[in-house]
Amino acid sequence: MSQNIPSVILGFPRIGENRELKVTLESYWAKKVDENTLEESASKLRQTHWGIQSNIALASSNDFSFYDGMLDMIELLGAIPERFADIANPRARYFAMARGDENHTALSMLKWFNTNYHYLVPELGEGMVFAPDTTKLKALYKESLAHRRVPKIQLVGPLTFLALSDRGYEANRGLLNALLVAYGEVLKTVASWGSELYVQFDEPILALDPSSERLQDAKKSYDYLASTPGIKSFVATYFAASTEATEVLLQTPLWGIALDFVHGEENLASLPSIAKSDKVLIAGVIDGRNVWACDLGERLEFLNQLATKLPRERIYPSTSCSLLHLPYSVAPEAKIPLEVKPWLAFAKEKVKELEILSKRFAGVKLGAEEMEWERLNLENAQKRRDSKLTQNRGDHSTAKIALQEAKPRTTPFKERIALQERRFKLPPLPTTTIGSFPQDKEVRALRLAYKKGEITQDIYEEGMRAHIKACIEFQEEAGFDVLVHGEFERTDMVEYFGELLEGALITQNGWVQSYGSRCVKPPVIYGDVSRPKEMTLSWSRYAQSLTSRLMKGMLTGPVTILNWSFVRDDIPRSEVCAQIALAIKEEIRDLEEAGIAIIQVDEAAFKEGYPLKKAQRAAYEEFALKSFWIATSSVKDETQIHTHMCYSVFDDIITTILAMDADVITIETARAGNRLLEAFKKVNYDKQIGPGIYDIHSPRIPSVEEMKRQILALFEVIDPKQIWVNPDCGLKTRGWSETKASLQNLIQATQEVRAGL
Ligand code: GLN
Ligand code: ZN
Repeated sequence: MSQNIPSVILGFPRIGENRELKVTLESYWAKKVDENTLEESASKLRQTHWGIQSNIALASSNDFSFYDGMLDMIELLGAIPERFADIANPRARYFAMARGDENHTALSMLKWFNTNYHYLVPELGEGMVFAPDTTKLKALYKESLAHRRVPKIQLVGPLTFLALSDRGYEANRGLLNALLVAYGEVLKTVASWGSELYVQFDEPILALDPSSERLQDAKKSYDYLASTPGIKSFVATYFAASTEATEVLLQTPLWGIALDFVHGEENLASLPSIAKSDKVLIAGVIDGRNVWACDLGERLEFLNQLATKLPRERIYPSTSCSLLHLPYSVAPEAKIPLEVKPWLAFAKEKVKELEILSKRFAGVKLGAEEMEWERLNLENAQKRRDSKLTQNRGDHSTAKIALQEAKPRTTPFKERIALQERRFKLPPLPTTTIGSFPQDKEVRALRLAYKKGEITQDIYEEGMRAHIKACIEFQEEAGFDVLVHGEFERTDMVEYFGELLEGALITQNGWVQSYGSRCVKPPVIYGDVSRPKEMTLSWSRYAQSLTSRLMKGMLTGPVTILNWSFVRDDIPRSEVCAQIALAIKEEIRDLEEAGIAIIQVDEAAFKEGYPLKKAQRAAYEEFALKSFWIATSSVKDETQIHTHMCYSVFDDIITTILAMDADVITIETARAGNRLLEAFKKVNYDKQIGPGIYDIHSPRIPSVEEMKRQILALFEVIDPKQIWVNPDCGLKTRGWSETKASLQNLIQATQEVRAGL
């Protein structure tokens, strides 16, 4: 056992190698298995995950969750919103908060910092009375003791918990004292369970730009919590540097501090203060957010550098954050190009890397198998650097030049739109949809059969064409002005392009938890991106051949492809983004040449890529904007560019949206109403906009009257001449029956409003 060699894993993915947790959860929800089966399979997963980490000194207990760690904190602290108090059974209540039931809507969900993971938002209201309940925590802790010498208990810290709660930090700040008392009670109970106890407080919020008020609160919180006798506690910040907060935390009785040196190199500035303190530094040197194998030689060198600044015994090598955001293991992947596979490390392999690195750092001899692993690691790191796949554009000058020269369209919008209007002759309030139509069982079965090689390409394409044809017939009958082909060929808007672009790969089993039982499989961009052949042209061309109406071409934008992929770390993200943009530009050119007059470039994840630190935002904005320009700005004046974004707050990025210079933007507003549009009004938005007039996330069918009201309400903020009418987002996850009914109502509502114009 090498659990004595200092090393820390901040958390392990819980979904399981083959998404076992997803399977059990969904069977449990469908009442196909009982509570015991659910518990048993969860316990089995935890054992396996502890097995993988058996040589790590500190691994987490309580990184497991049936749905989400924030939700578990809500339960642990007894911060159950009053509206769920009527549910007596704790498990039923837990899942009602997560997913809703007949009588309760679920807690809302938001993205965890700049990841694609969603947490449940604590509803603290004004007068939350906390009633901590450590039953579950204790059961997990006891279970972990059977496998580990020293389990560490992982908790979301009070500052992050408060900042991510419903009304935000400022409004909920009055609850901090009560919250600290609740945490304190939990810790006191924990302290009674054993003698050598570690607690990890996750506080990524402290890596943002903390106000002095928040720093004071951090000091107060950890002065109090870290003084619980019998517990060694540490705060983990990650995803960026936390230099200001680190200074403050070093003045508290904490045992240690975990810093992310991969995504926050500026943390190096804290070393002198850490050296002066008596704290342990848990040094996040293995990237927990990305899929690349580290270069063990280079990482050891980095750790040795740290050791010149503070005593080696006080440095615990670690992952930069929890491994929650990585797939399980790369080993079983059978279709990754042989050259590329050794470059990758998922959660399981990252644990191994940390194990070896920690041994080397501690000066402990490696076993034979570890020596071999290390040898291969070093060899592969060199091979990756030398590979043609990462260098097929020589010095990457094409992307660099494209970024330098990127410009918006030269003809001003007013002139373009006049040409486009003459060409299209659309009625006022033109109607369209966001792209995808329902993907029913038949569509999915067809795609799957093709993927498995059970049907030929001809049969697959024939099947797809039938779906496209039916979709177009429906849109024509319903009376849409601008049609779409329906996106039936795409499982996912990013995965589809990831499969077709050179330099990117799709794993077979690289699932990452997105929320609850939902997982995503991000493409891996490993080399220079290019477009070997058309990606959407043949589908769009076929669709256009079926109708005399306008057919909208449908592409995912470069920034969204970047933000929803695992991206190579050997060249700047800006260059990868520009390479993708150049590929999209080629596709747009082909669509244009084929007579497609309207092209939508979706940027659903544009906002997600913003760095957490204000100081770094401008650089991101610049390359994101330029990449959009690279893709879209060389079209003819009479070609109309649409974009689509789906989030609820635009105020902070509205000037960038304006600068993108798309002729039309469709956005998700149905639930937020006109509040959202105000942002556009404020900047005198003069282009066209399709504020979604109904919420596609619900099967509910809005009436004609309701949609009419929704359209008329838009006129209060935006000139009707600028408005398009469309749903909120793509219809992929909806059923056909509610989709047809809702869209027919949308058209009727539009016609009635038009009549009154
Ligand atoms: N065109 C995509 C669709 O309709 C857009 C999806 C999205 O915005 N998330 O599915
Ligand atoms: Zn959307």
